[in-house]
Amino acid sequence: MSVIEIDRLTKRYGDVTAVDGLSLSVESGEVFGFLGPNGAGKSTTINAMLDFTTPSSGSVRVFGHDAHEESVAVRRRSGLLLEGYGAYPRLTGHEHVEHAIATKDADDDPLELLERVGLVEAADRRAGGYSKGMRQRMAIAVALVGRPDLLVLDEPSTGLDPNGARRLREVVTAEADRGATVFFSSHILEQVEAVADRIAILRGGELEAVGGVRELRERLGTGTTVELDVTNTTDELHDRLRVLDGVSDVSSRNGTVAVACDGRGETKRKVLNAAADAGVYRDFTVREASLDDVFSQYTEGKA
Ligand code: ATP
Repeated sequence: MSVIEIDRLTKRYGDVTAVDGLSLSVESGEVFGFLGPNGAGKSTTINAMLDFTTPSSGSVRVFGHDAHEESVAVRRRSGLLLEGYGAYPRLTGHEHVEHAIATKDADDDPLELLERVGLVEAADRRAGGYSKGMRQRMAIAVALVGRPDLLVLDEPSTGLDPNGARRLREVVTAEADRGATVFFSSHILEQVEAVADRIAILRGGELEAVGGVRELRERLGTGTTVELDVTNTTDELHDRLRVLDGVSDVSSRNGTVAVACDGRGETKRKVLNAAADAGVYRDFTVREASLDDVFSQYTEGKA
């Protein structure tokens, strides 16, 4: 069952088209990573899901409700962490969470939620004195109030140190395990790769790609790089490598020849054989494309 259904969503601000005919669905229980460079339209899409902005055309349905017409029903079942979460400087972290619990008429234990984000020790300090990362941890705790069926997290990693990032991953995994759907945007690709079932990559308001990380890598066909440690980078070696089936690019730097290829065993063997035949081969390393590589391929127009 789809929890989020975005259908040809377009949002214009004057001459700027922030989102351009975006269609996307997110299934129940999925952890869905929403990626894209600055200004790609991620926040605008999230805002349309929660009726913080009205589409110029197209529609968004969440839990089958129209996000604009039935926003109350959508927000009731959602936990939100939006950009620029406004903390009340005079209230403590504990009071923020308590306030959210009262507003949602939930029965969570504030300390347990603060524990999950690693903020218990600072629970009784005023949020006005919190660091950026501490405010972010508090905002994550607030989003968890009421065991929402859908968590919408806009750039949840912002300001988090490595421990905070680990806790965020644990929170996302635990929420998915209890059956919640998690939709989050991020620039921290390792974070996305670690937890997302599927990702979408947005560029200029348009959907560039959607799928599992591995699937997107494979679709690009340049998912694997064989790095050859060679005694000499000859033109002959380059020529031998370039013509091989499954090889998409060959480049050299500092005694290493990087061969971008499709990652099939047969292709890798042919690459190693060609290097051996050229008489310059010493050693090799195989590097799988990181999500970073996938991201730049799609967002810098090389895909
Ligand atoms: P970032 O990663 O930098 O947060 P984003 O992918 O979330 O970027 P959006 O904030 O959705 O991108 O912005 C998409 C485009 O829409 C940008 O060109 C932005 O300047 C424009 N935009 C967004 N909100 C408004 C607004 N209220 N008024 C005018 N233009 C806007």
